[in-house]
Amino acid sequence: MKDLQALVRDNIWKLAPYSSARNEYSGHDAHVFLDANENPYNKPFNRYPDPLQLKLKEELSKVKLVAVENIFLGNGSDEAIDLVYRVFCQPRRDNVVAIEPTYGMYKVCADINDTEYRPVLLDENYQLNADKLLAACDANTKVIWLCTPNNPSGNNLQHEEIEKLLTNFDGIVVVDEAYSDFSTADLFRSKLDSFPNIIVLNTMSKAWGCAAIRLGMAFASKEIIELFNKVKYPYNVNLLSQQQALESLKHREDVEKWVTLLLQERRHLMKAFTDLPICEQVYPSDANFFLAKMTDAQAVYDYLVNKGIIVRNRTRVQLCKNCLRVTVGTKGENTELLSALRQYKS
Ligand SMILES: *Cc1c(COP(=O)(O)O)cnc(C)c1O
Repeated sequence: MKDLQALVRDNIWKLAPYSSARNEYSGHDAHVFLDANENPYNKPFNRYPDPLQLKLKEELSKVKLVAVENIFLGNGSDEAIDLVYRVFCQPRRDNVVAIEPTYGMYKVCADINDTEYRPVLLDENYQLNADKLLAACDANTKVIWLCTPNNPSGNNLQHEEIEKLLTNFDGIVVVDEAYSDFSTADLFRSKLDSFPNIIVLNTMSKAWGCAAIRLGMAFASKEIIELFNKVKYPYNVNLLSQQQALESLKHREDVEKWVTLLLQERRHLMKAFTDLPICEQVYPSDANFFLAKMTDAQAVYDYLVNKGIIVRNRTRVQLCKNCLRVTVGTKGENTELLSALRQYKS
């Protein structure tokens, strides 16, 4: 890995961050707060929330087995994705390399941050070839984007190939593990010590059932986390989200129960899709969704929309011609989907 300073944008490296009222007194036992122009009435919403979300990080640390100093929390992982660009990519000079197809926000945030995005096609089994990605890099490549299990394909990427990138690429490698709760593969968030250039993303939006509260995580070296903290909005995670996340963390057994149930339903749903005459192929999945190649994805998609059933039409995505991405729902929802598809007449 290059020197961190060589990878970070110059203005960000030199940035003197905003110092909030709540940051400056820390360490003292205070009880009269006349420093932040808050209204003293209307507790608890009158006070600014903890800018570094320490209590929540302490609880997450126990669940994720990552030290507090290695955790960044954001308004969804989407905030962390945007911060990667704002910290590392000098607009109109730097570029990033990413697998294709993958999660759309990596490209959208590249465009917003005026950074060249270099997609590299996965193979026909949606697998990664590290050498192919490395060949797409040049001296201005700051970041490689990986997602495992990958969205929209659903499969885990081969870990040897990911490690090859972590070892041989001299910039930052982001490994998005948004769906790792559904998979039994080894976790990259447990390998922070081996790879100083890794940023692992997690979210409460999927297995944790908390998409509405917008809580995403990045795990990385203390130095990278400090850069994120410097650039983020001071109070980026609101009080209600912090409280609700703490509440969810008290009920880990719910998540385990949901994951078991969803994996069981996924197996059933995938088998049923295989038997549909309008389905040509079902791709292997390590997530709470799967990709299915249909005879005519657009027609089936439109037919389902008419019945009030919405799946994701991925037919215009590279390597996904005629593919629908189906999220696993409740038993009742899955049954409704299957019965609609069995009545479909082309
Ligand atoms: C859904 C998803 C996310 C979640 O983003 P949030 O902003 O945390 O809701 C992140 N990465 C991938 C690959 C996803 O599919």
